[in-house]
Amino acid sequence: MIRIGLTGGIGAGKSTVARELETLGAVIVDGDKIAREVVEPGTPGLAALVEAFGERVLAADGSLNRPALAAIAFADDESRKTLNAITHPLVGARSQELITAAGPDAIIVQDIPLLVENHAGPMFHLVLVVWADAEERVQRLVSQRGMSEQDARARIAAQATDEQRRAAADVWLDNSGAPDSILTEVRRLWDHRIVPYGHNISERRAAVGAPAPTDPAAAAARLVGRVWLALGADAVAVVADSATDVGAVTVTRAAGVEDAAVAAALAPAGFYPGADQDVLTGADPGAATRVTVGG
Ligand code: ADP
Repeated sequence: MIRIGLTGGIGAGKSTVARELETLGAVIVDGDKIAREVVEPGTPGLAALVEAFGERVLAADGSLNRPALAAIAFADDESRKTLNAITHPLVGARSQELITAAGPDAIIVQDIPLLVENHAGPMFHLVLVVWADAEERVQRLVSQRGMSEQDARARIAAQATDEQRRAAADVWLDNSGAPDSILTEVRRLWDHRIVPYGHNISERRAAVGAPAPTDPAAAAARLVGRVWLALGADAVAVVADSATDVGAVTVTRAAGVEDAAVAAALAPAGFYPGADQDVLTGADPGAATRVTVGG
């Protein structure tokens, strides 16, 4: 199974990209949609919101009054944290159910608006960031989604910056042009990177002849997060290797942990040993990565 994280600022074009990926065959796990489902009338999620914020978050018919909740939750950090503490675990559990149901060879795309803000990148084999200039996004949100300009600007200001998104992105999808141009880009990405990457993981093999990433230091930083998450207590250190042209890290094994255990833990994350058991290569055909294991 390959898991792809799709993110970008509000109005950047995530839904547009997700629809195209779905047409191509991906299983979409839509964070916003699930976030709505888990607070429908009668759910424990809605009961928890009423408990935390009072009946003022309910509409007359007993459903969630979203504008009222947004006004409260965007007013201060504490309220936003309370809201997230209620909804995030529910969204996580429901997402996991859908992923499990999709089967072992599925290409899962999780549309997660706050992926960067929540440092969720390491959970994915590939992070796609859809980008459009903030002014362009305000204009699209106002003209096409009926949002007030003030609301659009407030939401954009509360989200990650372009620099933070760039650091998290394995793939940067520029959606400043006409819709057709990003859709062409998405189809190319699907054929040349996503599908072969998924096959490599299913067959537990490294990519052959992958090109160097455009920014090896940033690629290594993302790799550190992925390798840590995959190894957990099997590693005592994961350090980015500088002065290489691929995304590269060195792992220090915890005492008593064998090569085979490290390889088993890194396989689902998409890293496979070659002739030398201590050097693993990533399955991503779009960017070369290397994990050297020592200690
Ligand atoms: P997100 O899911 O990231 O919030 P959407 O995909 O819903 O963003 O796009 C925001 C709005 O902008 C939608 O109404 C969409 O139809 C429109 N849109 C998306 N891409 C473009 C584009 N390249 N040019 C013009 N409008 C676009």
